Amino acid sequence: MSTHQPDCLFCRIAAGDISCKKVYEDDEILAFHDINPQRPVHFLLIPKRHVSSLADVKDSDAPLLGKMLVRAHQLASDQGSPDGFRVIINTGRVGHQEVPHLHVHVLGGEQPVGAMVSPRQ
Ligand code: AMP
Ligand code: ZN
Repeated sequence: MSTHQPDCLFCRIAAGDISCKKVYEDDEILAFHDINPQRPVHFLLIPKRHVSSLADVKDSDAPLLGKMLVRAHQLASDQGSPDGFRVIINTGRVGHQEVPHLHVHVLGGEQPVGAMVSPRQ
């Protein structure tokens, strides 16, 4: 059973030990602006309890994951991206995940976000 991990940055944000620019919160999930935004709209959706990554989820996490994705559209619209947005879930080493607490990036704004990934050289 995953719970709060004191050494985890996003657990500490979820617990209120580290401040964030909050976008949304309920009993299970928290959304906050990315500290280094890559587009005019860029926020993160996280589960409040510790889940390391999408490589660490179980069938029992499906409702939580679904809830996070269901919230994305309304929050993106509220933040200024009503005509679409991009969701990214970086996972593990190959996915270039830097913070080991599951998070959904939501990116958007007035202009299209651009190519999904850079072509491989
Ligand atoms: P990832 O590579 O998917 O693990 O991305 C981690 C994201 O967390 C990056 O976009 C960072 O800018 C963002 N980030 C790191 N620290 C904070 C923080 N204290 N508050 C908000 N966003 C953060
Ligand atoms: Zn955590």
